[in-house]
Amino acid sequence: MPDRTQTTIERAAEVRGYGLFRGLDVTLRFLPADENHGIVFQRTDLTDAVDIPARVEHVVPEPRRTVLSRLGTRVEVVEHVMAALAGLQIDNCLVQLDAPEPPGCDGSAQAFTEALLDAGIVSQSAMRPTLHVPNAIEVTGSAGARVAAAPLPPEAGYTIRYDLDYGNSPVGRQTATYTITREAFINEIAFARTFVLELEVAALRAMGFGQRTTTSDLLVFGTEGVIDNALRCPNECARHKLLDCIGDFALIGCDLAGAFHANRTGHRANHDLIRRLKVQASMSKTPGAGPTADSATGPAHRRSA
Ligand SMILES: [Zn+2]
Repeated sequence: MPDRTQTTIERAAEVRGYGLFRGLDVTLRFLPADENHGIVFQRTDLTDAVDIPARVEHVVPEPRRTVLSRLGTRVEVVEHVMAALAGLQIDNCLVQLDAPEPPGCDGSAQAFTEALLDAGIVSQSAMRPTLHVPNAIEVTGSAGARVAAAPLPPEAGYTIRYDLDYGNSPVGRQTATYTITREAFINEIAFARTFVLELEVAALRAMGFGQRTTTSDLLVFGTEGVIDNALRCPNECARHKLLDCIGDFALIGCDLAGAFHANRTGHRANHDLIRRLKVQASMSKTPGAGPTADSATGPAHRRSA
């Protein structure tokens, strides 16, 4: 992957809708930001909120989604927004929300991707650091889940393979593999939607989630296949899990170079890998690892109400 300079967006962009989990109406605004600002989330509906840099240090473990929390301020379900920003290689952006979670839209990153492309991407002067995976590393989760990263020659870039295994269910076994470039993200990954099994829906609703979400909003799989909806490609589920990986891995705060392979993992294992990778890189003094730890700290100040 060639060295590149940092980027931001040319002008503000907005996406409206309601959250997939909590169902609250929300307006999300992407705003341009200075070099070395990083991606920072800001809750505009709270008078005493603090800004939350999109960094793995601020991840709190919650099932089925990526949640960031800092000094009592939370943003939830950030992974598809993060995937769109990372997939488009947008490094510096203030993301304002007037609710706890972004619009769910169709459960993919398509709406965010289109809004960001409409806003325009502009180059800045400072270099964007890249973390080259220094040594093979693996994290194992429950029920055979594992996610690994391995070094690649520098010219090979950043690759992710996702293997999904739902046995004999209609989701079945699927694989998606891509070298992560802006073009691949826009054309092959951004449109892949969230999926859920029909038998999981009742439990999620009992927890108060998904009250406004219908079978046309995302992919719900029953015993006979996807309900009231059509797949956008045969391995849409694996592509979506790969999209989630892009969003979760972006919480490292720099570009990545290496071969990543996720097997049946969810957000928690993805975060664990990134935490371990960060430690490993800081110990091995990989070129680019230093700025990684320091450059995207961002203006994490308390916002005046
Ligand atoms: Zn997702």
